Amino acid sequence: MSDEIKELKKQLLSNRKNGYDKPVDQAAMEAYCDGYKAFLDKGKTERLCAAEVLRLAEEKGYRPYIRGMEVRSGDKLYLRNRGKSVLLVHIGQKSLAEGAQIAAAHIDSPRLDLKPNPLYEDTELAYFKTHYYGGIRKYQWVTIPLELHGVAALKDGTVVKVSIGADPGDPKLVITDLLPHLGQEQGKKPLSEAIPGETLNLLLGSRPIGDEEDTGRVKLAVMKLLHEKYGITEDDFTSAELEAVPAVNACDIGLDRSLIGAYGHDDRVCGYAALKALLDLEETPVRTAVCVLADKEEIGSDGVTGMQSAAFDTFMEDLCDAQGVPVRVCLEKSFCLSADVTAAYDPNFGEVYEKRNAAYVNYGIGLCKYTGARGKSGASDADAETVAYVRRLFDDAGVIWQIAELGKVDAGGGGTVAAYMANRNITTLDAGVPVLSMHAPFEVVSKLDCWETYKGMKAVYRAEK
Ligand code: MN
Ligand code: MN
Repeated sequence: MSDEIKELKKQLLSNRKNGYDKPVDQAAMEAYCDGYKAFLDKGKTERLCAAEVLRLAEEKGYRPYIRGMEVRSGDKLYLRNRGKSVLLVHIGQKSLAEGAQIAAAHIDSPRLDLKPNPLYEDTELAYFKTHYYGGIRKYQWVTIPLELHGVAALKDGTVVKVSIGADPGDPKLVITDLLPHLGQEQGKKPLSEAIPGETLNLLLGSRPIGDEEDTGRVKLAVMKLLHEKYGITEDDFTSAELEAVPAVNACDIGLDRSLIGAYGHDDRVCGYAALKALLDLEETPVRTAVCVLADKEEIGSDGVTGMQSAAFDTFMEDLCDAQGVPVRVCLEKSFCLSADVTAAYDPNFGEVYEKRNAAYVNYGIGLCKYTGARGKSGASDADAETVAYVRRLFDDAGVIWQIAELGKVDAGGGGTVAAYMANRNITTLDAGVPVLSMHAPFEVVSKLDCWETYKGMKAVYRAEK
């Protein structure tokens, strides 16, 4: 190649490369990922995750916001929304009239919820009926160890915490599947039909109590154990939220330990980055920094703890009121990074990706100008100026990033909270960690991408305009 061509290529063509071919502080990256893995293990449900968020925030001097309190530069405040979603804010040097720098992620993940009348016995085996939450591939949830977390709210207002399978020595739960010897007909079905939702029943026990002439003895024995441990009766399931999640902790993946395998990367991987970057701000940011950790994203962001809830608007309005600023003025000058995962290119299934516009493992935080399905249906579709703004922020802060789409145009699609932020008149762009096996009980991300996402969040919070 002539020098002239070499020079032209350098000047004119994009030079995308693996993040490991760029400078990366690998010791800091590993330390960050250790914290992330511990965070995942403590928060396998949105409630547990929100509790861990508050613990970490309080350790860093964040205190609950109470309506009517003064809101001054440097204040670190949080709002706990019904124990399932958290809003955190570090009040900036400038007035909220100048807008806020927002990172919005979600802390709910696909899982199996118990039905309101879950407990039954069939052929002297006891089970819980489940109703899946979010987009799961049902066949992935059978024959893996599961644990159960959540609460039972009693009529007198007491809320009983339930946790089965997480403590060492605890029993686990499981959903059985057919043996291959008898699975010939099942094996001919499409993946989406082979395991019907009504067969996702958790096996609870097999040991009867009482005498052989009694009936329903295994179910009764299970209910007796639950009553002994939690003081609940069968009717209390009516007002319970119990969630079955994979009984597996986060761990390094690969001989080189470059990846992390865990349940719930989507979207705690961006949630943790958004949180940690906020907690790690050493100085008062110029603009107010806001971290949103929403619930219910996996089922459409509806509901009182979802991103479409007025809880966010009310919180922002309260803060603005305290500074005598109309909230609409604040929102129209704000920027939001909708921090959510994207699909990492998987060479095992290359046919569903468009190679020139896919996110790659170890290429850094993935920006998505738009998400959506087919003709961008449901997408927020950030404008060019917004993408340029984030390019500049990230490049100035030395953040390794890539631009990507979720997959081939007609292969499917997905959404995030971006549209709900943009609908509020907030300039918004999607960005997040590329994930392998997204929505599976055990997902995989790269440490480098986790670290660069954290750096990206920091750059957003620190931006001066
Ligand atoms: Mn997500
Ligand atoms: Mn998801």
